[in-house]
Amino acid sequence: MVSSVLAFLGVLAASTSAAAPPPPPNNAAAACRSLKSSFPQQVVSSADAAYPAWNGRWADTAELAPSCIFRPKTAKDVSAAVKVLNKEAGPAGDACPFSIKCGGHTPWAGANNVNNGVAIDLSGYMNTTTVSADKTIVSLGGGEVWRSAYAKTDGMGIAFPGGRCPGTGVGGVSLGGGYSWFQGSVGFVADNVINFEVVLASGEIVNANKTNHQDLFMALKGGNNNFGVVTRVDLATFQHSQQIHGGLIIVPVEASDAVLENLQRFTDDDAAGGVHTNAGLTVEYFLNATSGVGQILLWVIDTDAAGEHEAIRPFLEMQPQIVNRVATSSIAQYPSSVPAVTRVMMADLTFVNDLETLKGVHKITMQIFEESKGIPGLVWDFQFEPLSRHVIDQSVARGGNSLGINGTADDLLIMFIMPLWSDPAYDDQVYAAAQKWHSSVQAYTASMGKGHRFEFANYAAKFQNVMASYGPENLQFLRTVSRKYDPKQIFQRSVRGGYKLGV
Ligand SMILES: Cc1cc2nc3c(=O)[nH]c(=O)nc-3n(C[C@H](O)[C@H](O)[C@H](O)COP(=O)(O)OP(=O)(O)OC[C@H]3O[C@@H](n4cnc5c(N)ncnc54)[C@H](O)[C@@H]3O)c2cc1C
Repeated sequence: MVSSVLAFLGVLAASTSAAAPPPPPNNAAAACRSLKSSFPQQVVSSADAAYPAWNGRWADTAELAPSCIFRPKTAKDVSAAVKVLNKEAGPAGDACPFSIKCGGHTPWAGANNVNNGVAIDLSGYMNTTTVSADKTIVSLGGGEVWRSAYAKTDGMGIAFPGGRCPGTGVGGVSLGGGYSWFQGSVGFVADNVINFEVVLASGEIVNANKTNHQDLFMALKGGNNNFGVVTRVDLATFQHSQQIHGGLIIVPVEASDAVLENLQRFTDDDAAGGVHTNAGLTVEYFLNATSGVGQILLWVIDTDAAGEHEAIRPFLEMQPQIVNRVATSSIAQYPSSVPAVTRVMMADLTFVNDLETLKGVHKITMQIFEESKGIPGLVWDFQFEPLSRHVIDQSVARGGNSLGINGTADDLLIMFIMPLWSDPAYDDQVYAAAQKWHSSVQAYTASMGKGHRFEFANYAAKFQNVMASYGPENLQFLRTVSRKYDPKQIFQRSVRGGYKLGV
């Protein structure tokens, strides 16, 4: 995670400046007029004062110029909008181009926004959190963000898995799988979904769960925005004191070898005391090309608030420490808020948790940083997230998902890079460096016999073929479900963003 330490480490918050929108194609203009007449208070166009604020994104790199922005209040509003978008078909018989946004944290342009089309922003009104009377289910609006969900359930004696960065959205995080601090005890966020309320391409509103539309239910647990607009996510909760022990330790980059050794051991289910149900870890390198400052951010957690969990002790004991913000706090207070940024991108991959391979991957990542240092203001951020067999077993125990990693024989590490820069003139250079990193590391891990095909949607770059990385069987399954629920392939052809199925 990046966290509030971004400010501490010298990365400035974003300015929000969207370019003036070019004239919309006719069908977008007609769709906007139709939506405006049905929902006068819920639609803004570029001439409206609210447009820049409604069009804001976590990163400037994601900002585009939609013809209008629609903020639905209910699933019925979304359904009505989808019918309008279908009616205002494009030349090829597809629907008017549209996008879907929840927390708006995907940094690439077009992931959650659209030029010359209709941007559906679920975060405006569909940001609800309600808990069932027996407290076993939390129902989250398709536009809710985790910060709000954690705050609204604070004091209720329950917990549920969600984004570790509280500014991320329920929609994007759960549909991509979702990596949470409760990974060790309950698997991915998606594994804990018991029902998705979805607006299909036809405008029909359905509930997908283990008894209704089981195939759609399974597809949505990792299938991104390929199947519908999700208007509600019902998550299973569990009883919890809501107290956790953890936070951030920053150590100098010179401690890298020891950090990587501790990371490999933490992720190894076969190491002594290796299976961690209640401990979590993210290792983040934060290298500032301008100042030359390099630091390693160790995000640790004991989700039972038991204090110094054995698994995180090696990190807690590392010396010297530049910062130590480890404390007992409530889930809602975990220190990981993330300020908006200017230019950022993410790219990720997965490999087997092997120390020699890990050190080799680190070396390649540092080499590409060295080659990229000429990019003004570059911050080279990269992170490792453990994905041990034990975590994957938690997914299987809850019915599985569509990510294609069930039954993996190895402990894995998910790694992503997240370079930050400020001048758009250097966009191409950063993306080229990211692509080089991705192909170089994949080639290297494959040469070591330690590669893995899985690419986690939530940290992926636009250039990645995420859905194919779930494996041929899963991809085939997702395509079949897509054809069944979206025969005109609206979500493949007219919905911008996400990672398509390649049908
Ligand atoms: C600072 C930071 C911290 C992060 N921390 C975590 C983390 O702890 N765990 C984790 O798993 N990921 C994390 N991520 C990655 C994050 O999960 C993805 O960026 C995710 O897509 C964000 O979801 P969102 O709703 O905020 O984004 P959006 O950009 O709004 O949506 C992401 C994608 O999902 C689609 N989508 C969103 N809502 C819906 C919906 N209701 N129906 C249909 N489609 C929808 C959008 O069209 C888009 O393609 C982090 C990212 C950042 C930048």
